[in-house]
Amino acid sequence: MAVTAATLEANFINGKWIPGSSQTVVDIVNPANQQSLAQVSLADEADTARAIEAAASAFPAWRMTPPQDRIQYMFRFRELLLEHVDEIARVTTKENGKTVAEARAELQRGIENVEVSCGMPTMMQGYNLEDVARGVDEMMIRQPLGVVAAITPFNFPGMIPFWFMPYAIATGNTFILKPSERVPLTMMRVFELLEQVGLPKGVVNLVNGGKAVVDALLDHPKVRAISFVGSTPIAKYVYARAAASGKRAQCQGGAKNHVVVLPDADMKMATQIISDSAFGCAGQRCLAVSVAVTIGEAQKTFRDSITEAAASLRVGDGLEEGVQMGPVITAQSKSRIESLIGVGEKGGAKILLDGRNAHIPKHESGSFLKPTILDAVPASSELTDTEIFGPVLSLVHAKDMNEALAFLERSPYGNQASLFTSSGAAARRFRYEAPAGNIGINIGVAAPMAYFPFTGWKGSFFGDMHAQGRDAIEFYTDKKVVIERWGEEHSRKF
Ligand code: NAD
Repeated sequence: MAVTAATLEANFINGKWIPGSSQTVVDIVNPANQQSLAQVSLADEADTARAIEAAASAFPAWRMTPPQDRIQYMFRFRELLLEHVDEIARVTTKENGKTVAEARAELQRGIENVEVSCGMPTMMQGYNLEDVARGVDEMMIRQPLGVVAAITPFNFPGMIPFWFMPYAIATGNTFILKPSERVPLTMMRVFELLEQVGLPKGVVNLVNGGKAVVDALLDHPKVRAISFVGSTPIAKYVYARAAASGKRAQCQGGAKNHVVVLPDADMKMATQIISDSAFGCAGQRCLAVSVAVTIGEAQKTFRDSITEAAASLRVGDGLEEGVQMGPVITAQSKSRIESLIGVGEKGGAKILLDGRNAHIPKHESGSFLKPTILDAVPASSELTDTEIFGPVLSLVHAKDMNEALAFLERSPYGNQASLFTSSGAAARRFRYEAPAGNIGINIGVAAPMAYFPFTGWKGSFFGDMHAQGRDAIEFYTDKKVVIERWGEEHSRKF
């Protein structure tokens, strides 16, 4: 597409809205009906360099702004976000497809991070000890890094940028966000609110672009730290390239999450929660349950109940009242998921519920699939290790907990593992042994609250310090140790 008068000024750089300078224009479409929502010209390397220079110039004064004053902006930001939750949620639904209730909920989780960042004057404190030697004192203080950047995915446009932005700013850094080019509109609206907050220019910057912008951020010497959330191959790439230029990096990758269902679980509750986890947001959640491992009689009871629950979900346009599951992000995504269902079938799985070829009245061109359930997926099939990222739940059976845990152990990912049971002892063993960073016990989406870290393992995370919670403060600050001696005779002089 060519740049026209309708092309949005989608980048917020040094306090000004400007169009991207590249000649690539992306048509942002509503996945529920393929209608065009906006045209965005992507930023290029020079736009990115301008954002980095703006953030670098804003840093010295922002760093000297007392933390107590910095958080006043965050209080104002929170109030503005709360006033606009419904409006922003509708923007998210239009560009991403999820239901308005899901979009509202994700923004709420995002706002919780703004709230936590308001505690920065306490959270950012170091520690000290007098008399580490006679007359010698030692202290650890935390200082912000400088310019930091985050690169985020399409599936939570109104939440994931908040895992980084509030902490980065409240600790005294200046910040650049590069959202997914598939969903730029949500953060554009959020940045309009940030503009009203009145932060000094250059403290926050928004650059909408693709690989060229990412590479420019990764290679620029003035960017000190990179946060990334997206698929595993890109997470690995970003981690390696950021490290090559000496940056601190935290890179969250893809997932394939298992839930183990024991026969003593409350089957009604388990079914409801697992159905929400597998099919909510059309399965496009990095914490979506995608493989259910049943043990003993749960094989039959859970299989029957989940198939019934999934079949009853109302699929449609996320803007419509009563719709429980929206479309997937693009037509390409829909055909990728459909072909993976075919791969499962060829590999020996039995299709209990087939969501391919979904027809949604008045939305024939939308990227819709219906919930799909594959039974008896062989443990070593291509599908077991592949992230589907769609509304597809695979069922496998294990003879006991040992076999179930061995199954999880083989997975290349470790974002989340859940257990449904009424046994405390089984729950404790699972918590102790399950090889994943976020564990749910009778929980389907074990998404850590803002004051806890989001702790993916294995191929789901590259780095040391995670997003959110205390890890965020560690990530966005450098520690400095000062050891002081002033001499006793001088101290008695005045
Ligand atoms: P993606 O990896 O395609 O894109 C993520 C970001 O990387 C985007 O901003 C994109 O512009 C950029 N990017 C894409 N290709 C690039 C390249 N070749 N070089 C440099 N940058 C590039 O991911 P997505 O499709 O937007 O999101 C879905 C993925 O994100 C899934 O794998 C999902 O599991 C994962 N995810 C993980 C978490 C988590 O917390 N671990 C959370 C949400 C999503």
